[in-house]
Amino acid sequence: MDAPTLPSPLPPSGIGNLPDTLDPRDWGATSALAHRIVDDAVRHLREVRERPVWQPMPEPVQALFREPLPDGPMPVEDVYGLVRDNVLAYPMGNIHPRFWSWFMGAGNFTGALGDFLAAVQGSNLGGGSHAAVLMDQQVVGWLREMVGLPASASGTLVSGGSMANLIGLTVARNAMAGIDLRELGVAALERPMRFYASDQVHSCHRKAVEALGLGNRALCRVRSGPDCRIDIEALRAAIALDRADGFQPTCIIGTAGTVNSGAVDDLVALAEIAAAEGMWFHVDGCIGALIAIAPENAWRVKGIERADSVALDPHKWLHAPFALGCALVRDREKHRGTFAVSPEYLQGTARGIAAGDWLYEYGLQTTRSFGALKLWMALKEHGVTTFGRLIDRNIAQATYLASLMKAEPALELVMEPEVNIVCFRVAPKGYDEDRNKRINLEIMLRLQETGVAALSDTTIRGKHCLRVAICNHRTRLDDLDLLMSEVLKALPAN
Ligand SMILES: *Cc1c(COP(=O)(O)O)cnc(C)c1O
Repeated sequence: MDAPTLPSPLPPSGIGNLPDTLDPRDWGATSALAHRIVDDAVRHLREVRERPVWQPMPEPVQALFREPLPDGPMPVEDVYGLVRDNVLAYPMGNIHPRFWSWFMGAGNFTGALGDFLAAVQGSNLGGGSHAAVLMDQQVVGWLREMVGLPASASGTLVSGGSMANLIGLTVARNAMAGIDLRELGVAALERPMRFYASDQVHSCHRKAVEALGLGNRALCRVRSGPDCRIDIEALRAAIALDRADGFQPTCIIGTAGTVNSGAVDDLVALAEIAAAEGMWFHVDGCIGALIAIAPENAWRVKGIERADSVALDPHKWLHAPFALGCALVRDREKHRGTFAVSPEYLQGTARGIAAGDWLYEYGLQTTRSFGALKLWMALKEHGVTTFGRLIDRNIAQATYLASLMKAEPALELVMEPEVNIVCFRVAPKGYDEDRNKRINLEIMLRLQETGVAALSDTTIRGKHCLRVAICNHRTRLDDLDLLMSEVLKALPAN
């Protein structure tokens, strides 16, 4: 066979020899700019309380984001100026002490430095033999310890709770299939699988069962009681009925802290049913798993340590800058067995960079970010005790706010807070549901638009209400007093 003709290499004057790089030309100027950015960032955080929680973006700001793909260069100082004036000035608001919408963490500066340093080092957490891999495994181990799973359990850091739940439910599906599901797919299942959760379950579980090829109907929403916890007898009945109808009851999803009202399912009862029925027990602990580290309230999530898998969210109650979630799995082999594939281009070696563990074998991503660093630094700085105390404090603050509301005849506390979520509404006498909803929405939007506070809304047992979710290490009692007085000011005159 003739040797293939190779193209002749570029002459030394060709493009391969151009001095271009993305590195700065002037390292001194780069250092000066970086210092200025850090000073601005520190001030931004120090003065967060003085700024509005949120403000609408004026048209010129929005216009920046319609500009076309840049063709030529721009000095980085100018690029930063655009970001400072148009991006940093118009945040979602969740780092503000009076942001209580949905359920988000408030970030922390040490965590932000961690993200910066992770990007500077630039390691790929797909795996290998380097410090970031050991730190990632250490952080997973710490989170496992926080919720009380055994040392033999495995876990993986992911982008957030939705991905963490998807990981847990994928392992559940494969482990319970009774066939080689990876090879044969769901079409080969003898009986259709059924997953069970309360009707308060987070919407990411619907996406998960759909992505798993089981379909939305495979997620059975079991009635919740007046306390918004899953009705245990209704769950037993649903499982028995499905079994009789030829389904395979596969997995019970317990929610430790529902997104509507913060309700914590009876995890001990769920663990017992799962064991008796030979089912997988998954806990969605995106809100509440970390209550396990809060001394006054840890009892509320008892039973989580019996889960086969847990999803939790360090970017909520541990305030890691977005995004960081974690899936934990009791049985390491089942976890790895669900995802591991070893292509020829990712083989380990006895020595060198490829000698370490391949973390990508525990999830869907190949390249993974170094999210562990931001959490590691904040945990080292403050210690887990501080984070536990902050969780207890948020729960106490919700009780305080609820007590203020109960004393106010113009307000209706729609549900007694179980943890840190207060659901209430303005309910003037003689107003019907529609009119009630309109004025409550109006109050919510006015609070947002004036930048005073950010709440969100939901519907509980048919009642539209406003929702104050206090997952915030900057909130003080006087912030809640201010919320009360602003809500009362906004009441329609009788
Ligand atoms: C926030 C939340 C999720 C989703 O987590 P993300 O981090 O937003 O993806 C899932 N379940 C519950 C109960 C949550 O509160």
